[in-house]
Amino acid sequence: MCRLAILVVALITLQPGPRYDLVITGGSLVDGSGSPARRADVAVKGGKVVAIGTIAGSEGTISIDAKGLTVAPGFIDVHTHGDNLADRPLAANFVRMGVTSIIAGNCGGSAPDIGAALARIADAHASVNFATFIGHNTVRSAVMGSENRDATLPELDRMKALVWKGMADGAVGFSSGLQYIPGTYAKAPELIELARIAANAGGVYASHMRNEGTALEDAVAETLRVGEATGARVQISHLKVDSPSRWGASEKALLLMDAARSRGLVVEADQYAYTAASSNLGIRFPSWALEGGQQNIVERLNDPVTWARIKNEMRGLLAERGLEDLSFAVVASHRADPTLNGLSMKQVALKLKGSGSPDTQLEAAREMMLHGGASMVYHFMSDKDVERIMKNPHVAFASDADVLVEGQGVPHPRGYGNNARVLGDYVRTRHVIPLEEAVRKMTSLPATQFRFADRGLLREGFAADIVLFDAARVAEQGTFEKPHAYAAGIPYVIVNGVVVVSKGEHTGAKPGVVLKSVNGAGK
Ligand SMILES: [Zn+2]
Repeated sequence: MCRLAILVVALITLQPGPRYDLVITGGSLVDGSGSPARRADVAVKGGKVVAIGTIAGSEGTISIDAKGLTVAPGFIDVHTHGDNLADRPLAANFVRMGVTSIIAGNCGGSAPDIGAALARIADAHASVNFATFIGHNTVRSAVMGSENRDATLPELDRMKALVWKGMADGAVGFSSGLQYIPGTYAKAPELIELARIAANAGGVYASHMRNEGTALEDAVAETLRVGEATGARVQISHLKVDSPSRWGASEKALLLMDAARSRGLVVEADQYAYTAASSNLGIRFPSWALEGGQQNIVERLNDPVTWARIKNEMRGLLAERGLEDLSFAVVASHRADPTLNGLSMKQVALKLKGSGSPDTQLEAAREMMLHGGASMVYHFMSDKDVERIMKNPHVAFASDADVLVEGQGVPHPRGYGNNARVLGDYVRTRHVIPLEEAVRKMTSLPATQFRFADRGLLREGFAADIVLFDAARVAEQGTFEKPHAYAAGIPYVIVNGVVVVSKGEHTGAKPGVVLKSVNGAGK
């Protein structure tokens, strides 16, 4: 009896099982390096790519027929606000557009305790890999509230300690958001002191710059200065020209970056492929009017003399940018009155005040600020700048989105469609850049900048983050009016060897891990 059992066990052991966990056959491999597409099969085992070449589908426990599809490394979205991933771990808007790794904590706003945030995400398990910055606005407000002044030396020391702890806990760098409160009150020396802490720990300095239009070149120069003073690798966030009066200035911004690179600085940028931005309503107000929190804001807006001064400055800011009124601004989400969501400020003014004149638009903006502000979509860029920035080989693609909930608000459509829009609109229809270059900008370019040593390429030994898309059909489905629509033409997404999107549907799998930079390796 006992011998028989041993024999049975031996027979089962001898039974040849599939060699691999997953095999992808018959696809067109675009490996992320920028090399031309080639026909190759991919085998995955233990979460890693273990073979590339000619592999039979029968050798995989799971086999995916990729005939007619492009097989690429999973997309890395370096500029997101996916800090809410632990609460929405399926991250459907990201994975359904091929994104397998996101970096959060951008624009100066991060979790205050990076260690706790990363632990929470590891506990929750998520469908995408996650990394984060430690944010300047976060540490400044923890130490100084929203004070509009320079930091004292003890305050600076406390901020440095917070940045140090964030890096020690696993942040991939230090981010700033210099158009936001309270980051906008900090000058370059403070940024240099803090970015140096991150640089010494191998981190990137990423900046939502002080200005993205009227003083774009000054803002780029300030950002480069922080990099050169600290040795940090620099990431210019969502590079754009946001003022019609400055359209074309992207050329100068890119030349400044090229010049810094020739001096030895590692500087890259990212962009989303749209002529509209997304931000809060407060960014349209002079920064002094926002000091000290909502109570102070309400007092200023309710004081007729102060409001007249604010309104005058807002008019001036618009005129400088070559804008006549706020009709370029569309409400994404106004909690106090969701019926305004989706309306332009001209329509809001008509609805609330019975007139769409430039003056009533400003009055409507005041009213919305009194009721807690709003998140907005701003249409103020030119496609020529978007294309010029896209053609620069040092610019990655990033959505600037958070983890979205289907149907909630009217967010910028980039959160569902950025990568698909690049591949469909800019690559296939308009031939702005080749497919292999677009994939490189979504994969190995950001992986190298952030030192994710085993991601961003389809190579043996690399993590099996893989996206399969139909290059002839991949497309954004959302619009500014109806953004809640998943991208088309992306049937399979694999994260760490586990299928997260199958036949175009989320499988519910949550194989994502927390990513940290590999210090000094920089593969
Ligand atoms: Zn930003």
